[in-house]
Amino acid sequence: MATSIGNRSVCVIGGGISGMTTAIEAAEVGYEVYLIEKAPSLGGRVVQMNQYFPKLCPPQCGVEINYRRIRVNPRIRHFTLAEVEGVSGIPGNFDVTVRMGPRYVNEKCTSCNKCTDACPVERQSDYDYGMGKTKAIYLPHEMAFPMRYVIDDTVCLKEQCSKCVAACRYDAIELSMKPKSLTINVGSVVLATGWSPYHAIKIDNLKFGIYRNVIRNVEMERLAAPNGPTKGKILSPSDKKEIKSIAFVQCAGSRDENHLAYCSSVCCLASMKQATYVRSQYPDADIFIFYIDIRATGRFEDFYVKLQTDRKISFIKGKVAKIIEDEGTKALTVVAEDILSGKKVYRKVDMVVLATGMVPNGIKAKMPADIVYDEFGFAVSDLQSPGIYVTGCTKKPADVASCIQDATGTALKAIQTIVGV
Ligand SMILES: Cc1cc2nc3c(=O)[nH]c(=O)nc-3n(C[C@H](O)[C@H](O)[C@H](O)COP(=O)(O)OP(=O)(O)OC[C@H]3O[C@@H](n4cnc5c(N)ncnc54)[C@H](O)[C@@H]3O)c2cc1C
Ligand code: SF4
Ligand code: SF4
Repeated sequence: MATSIGNRSVCVIGGGISGMTTAIEAAEVGYEVYLIEKAPSLGGRVVQMNQYFPKLCPPQCGVEINYRRIRVNPRIRHFTLAEVEGVSGIPGNFDVTVRMGPRYVNEKCTSCNKCTDACPVERQSDYDYGMGKTKAIYLPHEMAFPMRYVIDDTVCLKEQCSKCVAACRYDAIELSMKPKSLTINVGSVVLATGWSPYHAIKIDNLKFGIYRNVIRNVEMERLAAPNGPTKGKILSPSDKKEIKSIAFVQCAGSRDENHLAYCSSVCCLASMKQATYVRSQYPDADIFIFYIDIRATGRFEDFYVKLQTDRKISFIKGKVAKIIEDEGTKALTVVAEDILSGKKVYRKVDMVVLATGMVPNGIKAKMPADIVYDEFGFAVSDLQSPGIYVTGCTKKPADVASCIQDATGTALKAIQTIVGV
């Protein structure tokens, strides 16, 4: 199928907070936008957070308003389960080929959940980073946009089963749905494909994937979230008991030539945020933050200063050498050299959270377009690809507020290309 709405249109690839912002800003000043998202729901990584720094509000605060702005704006056409296969052309006249995977659930879905009750197959929840399960037919998350169920066809038993089809009173499930292809003609293209957490299994001495009570910061967000796998209780994975002590290991793999040579800029703030909500939930919990340098610049300095006054939070300047597990209790001892005292420290804790960094998705799935990447896989926004822009964490690690500012500016660049031709 080919379609065209002329060159007063922008294609935004990636529907996280950055892509949604560029799409909304361009559409609200009169431009047509195609928003292409590969997941079954818009929102990106921020919908998996428990709370946002610096205000510590839940993700609903910022995300729902963006969903509403998209819902009410007829100039934005969004495509989920969609990926770009090719981009060709010149500024003002690009053809973008999009492949849309089958959702197997049509727009008649009312989100009644009857299909999920009937489905006999389980899968690991990607929303909960594998810590929880969903059925093969599931709602991506409770705020999902579009609010429509989806089938994971890698596990679904399809026609041999069809229990969901029988359970659905709205004729919303089509097990025979096929992928579709679409070519859109646009004036400019914006890449906003974001980031993924570093695969911490590669950091040998920190034992992620070997010791059950060593988790990453992204998993911590889900453990603490009221809609997470433990309904917001922070339980140690080995015995499901509520934690009494946690160690945060900063720069886990970051600023390290063997892993990620760069600083992901938000991990210190993410750990401080997590320490804050752990302390408010468990006032007796002891927190140890092992760091090389704390990066909390600008207005975030206040956040750091406040945490330092909490006597239950200890900042220890030193790189963690190793983590030892007690074979019986599964408690962990974190071993580091405290640079300020010159002494070796041993801290026994229930759980260790690795502050792992952000890996640009560009490094895995380079867009079939003329885009320049740096040595780490972040897309470089420069004049080598006129008419094609990059925004948010596709370009560099950043917090949400910085991504929104950048994405708003990127909307203007995308419009200037259209106006200028
Ligand atoms: C542990 C942790 C905690 C954090 N906590 C906070 C916080 O409290 N406050 C804060 O301000 N910031 C926080 N951040 C940073 C925040 O997560 C980022 O600023 C934000 O996710 C950036 O949004 P984005 O849209 O650029 O990328 P993403 O959120 O990654 O969105 C990218 C989107 O593009 C889609 N996509 C990827 N590839 C393709 C493709 N090929 N085709 C189509 N779509 C594609 C993805 O599915 C996704 O929806 C935290 C980061 C970490 C690591
Ligand atoms: S697919 Fe049918 S049964 Fe499942 S939630 Fe939607 S309307 Fe309900
Ligand atoms: S057809 Fe697939 S999604 Fe439907 S009930 Fe069976 S396994 Fe579940």
